[in-house]
Amino acid sequence: MKTANFIVVAAVLMVGSCDGGPTPSTGMMEFDGQLADTLVQRQVAFGPRVPGTAAHAEALAWMTAFLETRAEVTEQMPFTHVTQEGETLSLTNVWASFKPEAASRVLVVAHWDTRPVGEKAANVADRDNPIPGANDGASGVAIVLAIADALAERPPEVGVDLLLTDGEDWGHDPVTLATFTPDMFLGARHFAEVRGATYRPLYGILLDLVGDQEPRFPQEGFSRQFAPEVVARVWDLAQELGYGAVFTASPGQPITDDHVPLNEAGIRTINIIDFDYPFWHTPKDTIDKVSSGTLEIVGDVVLTTIRRQGGQ
Ligand SMILES: [Zn+2]
Repeated sequence: MKTANFIVVAAVLMVGSCDGGPTPSTGMMEFDGQLADTLVQRQVAFGPRVPGTAAHAEALAWMTAFLETRAEVTEQMPFTHVTQEGETLSLTNVWASFKPEAASRVLVVAHWDTRPVGEKAANVADRDNPIPGANDGASGVAIVLAIADALAERPPEVGVDLLLTDGEDWGHDPVTLATFTPDMFLGARHFAEVRGATYRPLYGILLDLVGDQEPRFPQEGFSRQFAPEVVARVWDLAQELGYGAVFTASPGQPITDDHVPLNEAGIRTINIIDFDYPFWHTPKDTIDKVSSGTLEIVGDVVLTTIRRQGGQ
């Protein structure tokens, strides 16, 4: 028994990812976890992507250029939002499409802004400061962009739309810093308002907090409620790919996120999210908390879902 354990440990050490996260079991799949890891680093290097800052504008220009060289259609969707305090925010969703003429489409969503405050910081003095957003923001965007890269290399058979939302993480009480939902999910709400009546993909997949080193994705509660058959499809596929220990077939708590306004508008969308992340909304949400192995596992599952949908 001891010997058997030793052999297993040695095997894991030999193939373990260098950044301390999990090792994708397949290793030979299409999605490039190393590219996604680089794309997280690039975003974090801009600084916090807080609306109204130079880093926010620079990240927007960079993401748009990345998609323009890969997708058939790339579009910035600017809008404004007046907050509870009367501040007007200039925000921009980014949209990219592959095979835009196809009637059957899959939507992939992530938020690209980062939170202006870190209200969960242990140190009170840190709570007024913006968070780096390596996992909360950059991880989901990195997977979306790396999927765009793969689809440019080998075009999908199904239509694919990518939506990077702004203003997901703005809302907070200016005094107590407590979470303030009227000023959250702004990009998803705006999209639902302007496109929700007519845009009908087969389904959407939202990615949030998808990069930490100990990933575990239970089936998020609103996803099970709004789109149970999409949950079943994605989690069954993850199981088939050997990721059943990460995509656990167990009910998770409902988490209000960008998928809620989309579902309310009739866009059936699930949320892949690991809410068990101790660095959430703290200054410690840094690049060292993100694992290329985790990014690859999630990217494998989403990209393979797209490929299967198109019969590829
Ligand atoms: Zn957040």
